Formats: sequence, structure tokens, C-alpha cells
Amino acid sequence: MRYLPGAPIILAVLVTIPGCALPEKKTTEAWKLADSAREHVTDPALEARIFKALDAAAMAGTDPSISHFHVRAGTTIELEGVDHTIVGGNSEWAGYPEAIHGETSLMNHVINTVGPDAAYRDVEFLAFYKDGGCRGGGSCGDCRDYLMTTTRWQDLLMVCGSGEDHLVHVSRFAEWVVPEDEFPEVDADAIGLRRETLDALVEAALEAREGGVSLFTPAEEHLGVAALTTEGEIYRAAGADDAAFHYRYPLGAVLQQAAAYRDYFVEAIVVATAPGHIPRVSYRDRQYGYESSSFNAKRGHPPIKLIVLEQDLEESTIRYRMTTFEEALPGAFSTDSFMPEAVDQFLEQRAEP
Ligand SMILES: [Zn+2]
Repeated sequence: MRYLPGAPIILAVLVTIPGCALPEKKTTEAWKLADSAREHVTDPALEARIFKALDAAAMAGTDPSISHFHVRAGTTIELEGVDHTIVGGNSEWAGYPEAIHGETSLMNHVINTVGPDAAYRDVEFLAFYKDGGCRGGGSCGDCRDYLMTTTRWQDLLMVCGSGEDHLVHVSRFAEWVVPEDEFPEVDADAIGLRRETLDALVEAALEAREGGVSLFTPAEEHLGVAALTTEGEIYRAAGADDAAFHYRYPLGAVLQQAAAYRDYFVEAIVVATAPGHIPRVSYRDRQYGYESSSFNAKRGHPPIKLIVLEQDLEESTIRYRMTTFEEALPGAFSTDSFMPEAVDQFLEQRAEP
């Protein structure tokens, strides 16, 4: 069962409602596990902790001033025989469509309360209270990156409690994770690009990696990327970090450059890292790619090819792995998921015919 813990930005709704910070009192009738949840929750004590967290999440304060989409999150952890119930919620700031998401808010509060080691060891689940019921979609890419850093994500459960029928749905976070070494390996000839075009993309990605800004980023995480659009243009970008840790993600950057030329439909993206490593494509960058690939779908173009390069240490051979953002970010959402007409209208006005 999928549900919607993420915090989508609803672009067209820009009306700010002041004073919506405190949630109204919720009735917390008895929760009941959905049948499909029982395979994940067999321990009655865990079930009780989940219900306790949902009761608390229902009361979590949020401030989604742009989207008006409340993400109320909670978890209960047992530490030295004592239950700690901790909540988090999303908060957006006006001006730019930026947000702190429910997942990152919650885990930050858990770390504040019990420290990072206990948070990593003891958080079993993140629970979300949803007024409108549990339907569709997983966490955004950025939240996936953070949860993979701060939790034992391989065992983490994602819980949604419906405010409508009080049924509790449970998924495994690991269902939303696709490691890069599982991207299928392909021969250059099977990629579906002319060889000279592929070679030009590879060269551009490798050259881009020589640039960028990597003051804090480990060498193997510093990426160069190149994007080919349906117009036949090639754009390039590299990661850039800074003292505020507001990382500029390379796939996001290359898509942003193409968009600045109204070149919205991307055919392929090539990603390169240090020799001897498979490039790690962050889930945040996968989110940018997924959003862009949803534009392709609108015009009947195929999904973007996501191609990662693996050079050997001597830089004498290159292996290719290829997937799509749809495959690499299971359970994703894009603006098209919520506002398909707004995306149609946007592309109608901005994209070159
Ligand atoms: Zn998120």
C-alpha cells in the first residue's frame, strides 16, 4: 500500500493563510492495522508504539503556507524501557517554493531528543497522520537521502494512519531504494544513441567533473553530468558545495541550464565520477530527473535515459549502466501527479513547439 508522506509544492496555490500553525484537536479513535500491514507488524508492542505515534502526529504543528498540504509525522522509540514519542511536521517559506519536510523535521527532532546513535539504532518507523486518507506516492528524493543517512533504512517501516477510516497502512522504506549497482549494465551499442553522440556526452560529463566546486564533497561523490536534449543540444554541470552546506546538485543544475534555454525535453543524462567508482546518484537528483521526465511523458517522448559511467582505475575502459528516473525513484511524485493541467499549460506557454 502506498501513501503520501512527501511535501509536494502546489505551484499554483500561492495564497497565504495566516495563523494556521496550530492544528485543531483531532479525535484519535482506535487505530486498526490494515490487513496488508500485518506482514510488517507482528509484535503487539510495536503496534502499540505505532498507534501512540499516530495519536501524537495528529497533533503536530505544521506551516504549509504555499501548498496547504499538511505532513504530520511522529515516531515512538523505546529507550531503556521508556517510550519516547517525538513529532515533526512540514513548514514552507513564502517567496520561493522551499520547504522543510515532515520526514527531515521528525528525524531532526529525534536526534535532538535522544542523540544520533540512539536515533539510528532505535527508530523503527516513521508514522504520518493523513486527514484525507492514505493514497499514492512515497517520500521525496531529498527525504530518502536523509533517512538513508540517519536511520537503519533497510529495516525502516513507513506508516500512514488515515484520518478518514483510522486504518493504518505500512510499507517498507527499502521498497523506494534502488542502488546504482542494480542499474542494468548495457553495451554502448544497446544504449540507443549514435556512438558519436554517446562519446560526446561521455567527454562532456568527464570534463564537467574536472570543474564544479568540491571543498567538502568526497572525490568519489563529486559528479560531472551531461544532458542531451531532443533539440540535439548538450549541456553540462558539476556538483558545487559551500560553507552553508547548501549543495548545488549536478543533475538539477544541468536540467536548470537546459530549461533556461526553454529546452525542456531531455533524451539522455550521463553521470561520471572518479575512476574505480560507480557514480552515486542522489535521490534528490533523481527527483529532479523524475520531474523532468514527466515533461517528456506529456509530449509523448520516451523517459529520460539515465546512464552512469564506471571507469576502471587506469581510465582505459568504461562500463555503462542504464535506467530511467521512473525506475530509479519508485513511488515518486511530480507536479504532474497533482496538477497535470498546470504542467500542460506551462509547457504550452514556455516550451519551444
Ligand atoms: Zn521530502
